[in-house]
Amino acid sequence: MHYYSLNEYLRSRFGEPVYKLSLNGGMTCPNRDGTLGTRGCIFCSSGGSGEFAASADLDINSQIDSAKSLVIGKTKAEKFIAYFQPFTNTYAEVSYLEKLFMQAIQRDDICALSIATRPDCLENDKIQLLSRLNKIKPVFVELGLQTIHSRTAHYIRRGYELCVFDKAVSNLKAIGVNVVVHLILGLPGESREDMLKSVSYVAHSGADGIKLQLLHLLKGTDLASDYEKKPFHILSLDEYAELICECIELLPKDMVVHRITGDGDKKLLIEPKWSGNKRLVLNTINKALRERNVEQGSRF
Ligand code: SF4
Repeated sequence: MHYYSLNEYLRSRFGEPVYKLSLNGGMTCPNRDGTLGTRGCIFCSSGGSGEFAASADLDINSQIDSAKSLVIGKTKAEKFIAYFQPFTNTYAEVSYLEKLFMQAIQRDDICALSIATRPDCLENDKIQLLSRLNKIKPVFVELGLQTIHSRTAHYIRRGYELCVFDKAVSNLKAIGVNVVVHLILGLPGESREDMLKSVSYVAHSGADGIKLQLLHLLKGTDLASDYEKKPFHILSLDEYAELICECIELLPKDMVVHRITGDGDKKLLIEPKWSGNKRLVLNTINKALRERNVEQGSRF
Protein backbone atom coordinates (compact mmCIF):
# COMPACT_ATOMS: atom_id res chain seq x y z
CA MET A 1 0.00 0.00 0.00
CA HIS A 2 1.38 3.39 -1.00
CA TYR A 3 0.37 6.84 0.16
CA TYR A 4 0.77 9.21 -2.80
CA SER A 5 1.64 12.48 -1.10
CA LEU A 6 1.23 15.91 -2.66
CA ASN A 7 4.97 16.54 -2.39
CA GLU A 8 5.73 13.39 -4.32
CA TYR A 9 3.18 14.30 -6.99
CA LEU A 10 4.40 17.90 -7.35
CA ARG A 11 7.98 16.80 -7.71
CA SER A 12 7.11 14.34 -10.46
CA ARG A 13 4.80 16.80 -12.20
CA PHE A 14 7.02 19.89 -12.08
CA GLY A 15 10.47 18.35 -11.68
CA GLU A 16 11.40 20.66 -8.81
CA PRO A 17 10.01 21.77 -5.45
CA VAL A 18 7.02 24.08 -5.76
CA TYR A 19 5.23 25.99 -3.02
CA LYS A 20 1.59 27.08 -2.77
CA LEU A 21 0.88 30.77 -2.19
CA SER A 22 -2.54 31.55 -0.69
CA LEU A 23 -4.17 34.43 -2.54
CA ASN A 24 -7.42 36.27 -2.10
CA GLY A 25 -9.51 36.92 -5.20
CA GLY A 26 -11.89 39.20 -3.30
CA MET A 27 -14.98 37.06 -3.78
CA THR A 28 -17.74 35.98 -1.43
CA CYS A 29 -19.90 32.86 -1.67
CA PRO A 30 -23.58 32.08 -2.24
CA ASN A 31 -23.89 30.83 1.32
CA ARG A 32 -22.93 34.25 2.61
CA ASP A 33 -24.21 36.88 0.18
CA GLY A 34 -27.89 35.96 0.61
CA THR A 35 -28.24 33.87 -2.55
CA LEU A 36 -28.49 30.63 -0.56
CA GLY A 37 -27.93 32.00 2.93
CA THR A 38 -26.18 34.66 4.94
CA ARG A 39 -24.50 32.74 7.76
CA GLY A 40 -22.26 30.50 5.67
CA CYS A 41 -21.63 26.81 6.18
CA ILE A 42 -22.04 25.99 9.85
CA PHE A 43 -18.30 25.41 10.43
CA CYS A 44 -16.96 28.26 8.31
CA SER A 45 -15.19 31.20 9.93
CA SER A 46 -15.78 34.77 8.77
CA GLY A 47 -12.54 34.49 6.79
CA GLY A 48 -14.25 32.02 4.44
CA SER A 49 -11.96 29.10 5.33
CA GLY A 50 -8.87 30.95 4.19
CA GLU A 51 -7.31 32.60 7.23
CA PHE A 52 -3.83 32.45 5.74
CA ALA A 53 -4.56 34.12 2.42
CA ALA A 54 -3.19 37.54 1.57
CA SER A 55 -5.35 40.65 1.77
CA ALA A 56 -7.81 41.21 -1.07
CA ASP A 57 -6.97 44.94 -0.86
CA LEU A 58 -3.76 44.18 -2.76
CA ASP A 59 -3.71 43.35 -6.48
CA ILE A 60 -2.69 39.82 -7.39
CA ASN A 61 0.89 40.69 -8.33
CA SER A 62 1.40 42.41 -4.98
CA GLN A 63 -0.21 39.49 -3.14
CA ILE A 64 2.13 37.04 -4.86
CA ASP A 65 5.19 39.18 -4.08
CA SER A 66 4.11 39.61 -0.48
CA ALA A 67 3.32 35.88 0.00
CA LYS A 68 6.70 34.98 -1.55
CA SER A 69 8.56 37.34 0.78
CA LEU A 70 6.99 35.52 3.76
CA VAL A 71 8.29 32.11 2.66
CA ILE A 72 11.82 33.10 1.63
CA GLY A 73 14.14 30.99 3.75
CA LYS A 74 11.40 28.46 4.54
CA THR A 75 11.39 26.80 1.15
CA LYS A 76 13.85 25.97 -1.61
CA ALA A 77 11.08 26.49 -4.17
CA GLU A 78 11.55 28.91 -7.02
CA LYS A 79 8.23 28.07 -8.65
CA PHE A 80 4.88 28.64 -7.02
CA ILE A 81 1.25 27.62 -7.33
CA ALA A 82 -1.16 30.53 -7.17
CA TYR A 83 -3.79 29.20 -4.75
CA PHE A 84 -7.04 31.14 -4.67
CA GLN A 85 -8.24 29.90 -1.32
CA PRO A 86 -10.86 31.81 0.69
CA PHE A 87 -14.58 31.81 -0.13
CA THR A 88 -15.72 30.67 -3.62
CA ASN A 89 -13.21 31.55 -6.29
CA THR A 90 -15.44 31.12 -9.32
CA TYR A 91 -18.27 33.19 -7.84
CA ALA A 92 -17.96 36.25 -10.11
CA GLU A 93 -18.38 37.31 -13.72
CA VAL A 94 -16.11 35.49 -16.16
CA SER A 95 -14.53 38.81 -17.24
CA TYR A 96 -13.47 39.48 -13.62
CA LEU A 97 -12.19 35.93 -13.14
CA GLU A 98 -10.27 35.93 -16.41
CA LYS A 99 -8.43 39.15 -15.56
CA LEU A 100 -7.68 37.90 -12.04
CA PHE A 101 -6.39 34.47 -13.00
CA MET A 102 -4.45 35.76 -16.02
CA GLN A 103 -2.46 38.13 -13.79
CA ALA A 104 -1.22 35.12 -11.85
CA ILE A 105 -0.78 32.64 -14.65
CA GLN A 106 1.27 35.00 -16.84
CA ARG A 107 4.06 35.29 -14.29
CA ASP A 108 7.17 33.18 -14.86
CA ASP A 109 7.37 32.22 -11.17
CA ILE A 110 3.82 30.79 -11.21
CA CYS A 111 3.73 27.25 -12.55
CA ALA A 112 0.06 26.42 -11.90
CA LEU A 113 -3.26 27.74 -10.65
CA SER A 114 -5.23 26.16 -7.84
CA ILE A 115 -8.80 27.38 -7.44
CA ALA A 116 -10.98 26.50 -4.45
CA THR A 117 -14.67 26.66 -5.23
CA ARG A 118 -18.11 25.07 -4.95
CA PRO A 119 -19.50 22.62 -7.52
CA ASP A 120 -22.61 24.80 -7.96
CA CYS A 121 -20.51 27.78 -9.09
CA LEU A 122 -19.08 26.17 -12.22
CA GLU A 123 -21.43 27.22 -15.00
CA ASN A 124 -20.50 26.50 -18.63
CA ASP A 125 -18.81 29.86 -19.25
CA LYS A 126 -16.59 29.25 -16.21
CA ILE A 127 -15.74 25.75 -17.37
CA GLN A 128 -14.72 27.26 -20.71
CA LEU A 129 -12.54 29.81 -18.94
CA LEU A 130 -10.86 27.07 -16.90
CA SER A 131 -10.27 25.14 -20.10
CA ARG A 132 -8.54 28.16 -21.68
CA LEU A 133 -6.40 28.69 -18.57
CA ASN A 134 -5.49 25.01 -18.43
CA LYS A 135 -4.01 25.31 -21.91
CA ILE A 136 -1.60 27.96 -20.60
CA LYS A 137 -0.59 26.32 -17.31
CA PRO A 138 -1.99 23.42 -15.26
CA VAL A 139 -5.18 24.23 -13.37
CA PHE A 140 -6.27 22.46 -10.20
CA VAL A 141 -9.87 22.92 -9.05
CA GLU A 142 -10.63 22.12 -5.43
CA LEU A 143 -14.26 21.26 -4.71
CA GLY A 144 -15.62 21.58 -1.18
CA LEU A 145 -17.79 18.48 -0.83
CA GLN A 146 -17.25 17.80 2.90
CA THR A 147 -19.61 14.78 2.99
CA ILE A 148 -21.74 12.67 0.67
CA HIS A 149 -24.49 12.27 3.27
CA SER A 150 -27.51 14.47 2.64
CA ARG A 151 -28.52 14.76 6.31
CA THR A 152 -25.08 16.12 7.22
CA ALA A 153 -24.98 18.31 4.09
CA HIS A 154 -28.31 19.80 5.17
CA TYR A 155 -27.10 20.33 8.75
CA ILE A 156 -23.90 22.06 7.68
CA ARG A 157 -25.91 24.19 5.16
CA ARG A 158 -23.77 23.13 2.24
CA GLY A 159 -26.46 24.27 -0.16
CA TYR A 160 -26.21 21.82 -3.06
CA GLU A 161 -27.03 18.18 -3.75
CA LEU A 162 -24.55 15.40 -4.43
CA CYS A 163 -25.60 15.19 -8.11
CA VAL A 164 -24.28 18.77 -8.56
CA PHE A 165 -20.87 17.57 -7.40
CA ASP A 166 -20.99 14.60 -9.79
CA LYS A 167 -21.79 16.90 -12.72
CA ALA A 168 -19.02 19.35 -11.80
CA VAL A 169 -16.43 16.55 -11.62
CA SER A 170 -17.53 15.24 -15.00
CA ASN A 171 -17.40 18.74 -16.60
CA LEU A 172 -13.97 19.45 -15.12
CA LYS A 173 -12.54 16.10 -16.16
CA ALA A 174 -13.86 16.67 -19.69
CA ILE A 175 -11.63 19.76 -20.02
CA GLY A 176 -8.64 18.03 -18.44
CA VAL A 177 -8.22 20.06 -15.26
CA ASN A 178 -7.01 18.35 -12.12
CA VAL A 179 -9.87 17.83 -9.66
CA VAL A 180 -9.23 17.78 -5.92
CA VAL A 181 -12.04 17.04 -3.47
CA HIS A 182 -12.20 18.38 0.06
CA LEU A 183 -13.82 16.25 2.77
CA ILE A 184 -14.22 16.99 6.47
CA LEU A 185 -13.69 14.19 8.98
CA GLY A 186 -15.46 14.42 12.33
CA LEU A 187 -18.66 16.23 11.37
CA PRO A 188 -21.35 15.86 14.06
CA GLY A 189 -23.60 12.83 13.68
CA GLU A 190 -21.26 11.02 11.27
CA SER A 191 -19.97 7.59 12.21
CA ARG A 192 -16.64 6.17 11.11
CA GLU A 193 -18.54 4.17 8.47
CA ASP A 194 -20.25 7.34 7.19
CA MET A 195 -16.89 9.06 6.77
CA LEU A 196 -15.36 6.06 5.03
CA LYS A 197 -18.34 5.95 2.65
CA SER A 198 -17.64 9.58 1.69
CA VAL A 199 -13.96 8.75 1.09
CA SER A 200 -14.89 5.71 -0.97
CA TYR A 201 -17.29 7.80 -3.06
CA VAL A 202 -14.58 10.35 -3.81
CA ALA A 203 -12.11 7.55 -4.54
CA HIS A 204 -14.40 6.39 -7.37
CA SER A 205 -15.64 9.82 -8.49
CA GLY A 206 -12.99 10.43 -11.14
CA ALA A 207 -11.25 13.04 -8.99
CA ASP A 208 -7.46 13.16 -9.11
CA GLY A 209 -6.81 14.18 -5.55
CA ILE A 210 -8.35 14.35 -2.10
CA LYS A 211 -7.95 16.65 0.88
CA LEU A 212 -8.82 15.15 4.23
CA GLN A 213 -9.52 17.87 6.71
CA LEU A 214 -10.12 17.32 10.39
CA LEU A 215 -13.18 19.25 11.59
CA HIS A 216 -12.06 22.35 13.43
CA LEU A 217 -14.50 23.87 15.85
CA LEU A 218 -13.82 27.60 15.49
CA LYS A 219 -14.88 30.50 17.66
CA GLY A 220 -17.72 32.58 16.26
CA THR A 221 -19.21 29.83 14.09
CA ASP A 222 -22.73 28.46 14.43
CA LEU A 223 -21.18 25.01 14.91
CA ALA A 224 -19.43 26.32 18.03
CA SER A 225 -22.79 27.57 19.39
CA ASP A 226 -24.38 24.18 18.70
CA TYR A 227 -21.48 22.47 20.46
CA GLU A 228 -21.85 24.72 23.48
CA LYS A 229 -25.55 23.86 23.72
CA LYS A 230 -25.11 20.16 22.98
CA PRO A 231 -21.53 18.84 22.84
CA PHE A 232 -20.88 16.17 20.22
CA HIS A 233 -18.02 13.70 19.95
CA ILE A 234 -14.67 15.26 19.10
CA LEU A 235 -12.20 12.81 17.58
CA SER A 236 -9.13 12.04 19.68
CA LEU A 237 -5.74 12.17 17.97
CA ASP A 238 -5.45 8.37 18.04
CA GLU A 239 -8.93 7.97 16.55
CA TYR A 240 -8.08 10.48 13.85
CA ALA A 241 -4.77 8.81 12.99
CA GLU A 242 -6.48 5.42 12.68
CA LEU A 243 -9.23 6.96 10.55
CA ILE A 244 -6.70 8.57 8.20
CA CYS A 245 -5.04 5.17 7.70
CA GLU A 246 -8.40 3.59 6.88
CA CYS A 247 -9.19 6.42 4.45
CA ILE A 248 -5.86 6.06 2.64
CA GLU A 249 -6.40 2.34 2.30
CA LEU A 250 -9.58 3.07 0.31
CA LEU A 251 -7.90 5.30 -2.26
CA PRO A 252 -6.68 4.26 -5.70
CA LYS A 253 -2.89 4.23 -5.73
CA ASP A 254 -2.74 7.13 -8.20
CA MET A 255 -5.01 9.41 -6.15
CA VAL A 256 -2.95 12.24 -4.68
CA VAL A 257 -3.46 12.96 -0.99
CA HIS A 258 -3.22 16.74 -0.73
CA ARG A 259 -3.83 16.96 2.98
CA ILE A 260 -4.25 14.72 6.01
CA THR A 261 -4.64 17.36 8.70
CA GLY A 262 -5.83 20.93 8.72
CA ASP A 263 -4.47 24.41 9.05
CA GLY A 264 -6.97 26.04 11.38
CA ASP A 265 -6.31 29.45 12.87
CA LYS A 266 -5.05 28.68 16.40
CA LYS A 267 -6.56 31.91 17.73
CA LEU A 268 -10.02 30.65 16.74
CA LEU A 269 -9.60 26.97 17.57
CA ILE A 270 -11.88 25.56 20.29
CA GLU A 271 -11.57 21.82 19.56
CA PRO A 272 -9.80 19.48 18.98
CA LYS A 273 -7.10 21.20 21.00
CA TRP A 274 -4.50 18.60 19.98
CA SER A 275 -4.85 19.73 16.37
CA GLY A 276 -2.93 22.91 17.20
CA ASN A 277 0.26 20.83 17.54
CA LYS A 278 0.87 20.03 13.88
CA ARG A 279 4.15 18.23 14.48
CA LEU A 280 2.51 15.90 17.03
CA VAL A 281 -0.40 15.27 14.64
CA LEU A 282 1.86 14.41 11.70
CA ASN A 283 4.15 12.24 13.83
CA THR A 284 1.16 10.30 15.20
CA ILE A 285 -0.34 9.80 11.74
CA ASN A 286 3.02 8.78 10.27
CA LYS A 287 3.51 6.25 13.07
CA ALA A 288 0.03 4.82 12.46
CA LEU A 289 0.75 4.60 8.71
CA ARG A 290 4.05 2.81 9.37
CA GLU A 291 2.33 0.33 11.70
CA ARG A 292 -0.05 -0.51 8.86
CA ASN A 293 2.81 -0.78 6.37
CA VAL A 294 1.56 2.13 4.33
CA GLU A 295 4.56 3.27 2.33
CA GLN A 296 4.90 7.04 2.09
CA GLY A 297 6.21 8.94 -0.86
CA SER A 298 9.49 10.78 -0.47
CA ARG A 299 9.38 14.34 0.75
CA PHE A 300 11.42 17.39 -0.15
S1 SF4 B 1 -17.13 26.88 3.54
FE1 SF4 B 1 -16.99 27.83 1.53
S2 SF4 B 1 -19.09 27.66 0.72
FE2 SF4 B 1 -19.24 27.37 2.93
S3 SF4 B 1 -19.65 29.42 3.76
FE3 SF4 B 1 -17.43 29.08 3.84
S4 SF4 B 1 -16.68 30.01 1.96
FE4 SF4 B 1 -18.88 29.68 1.68
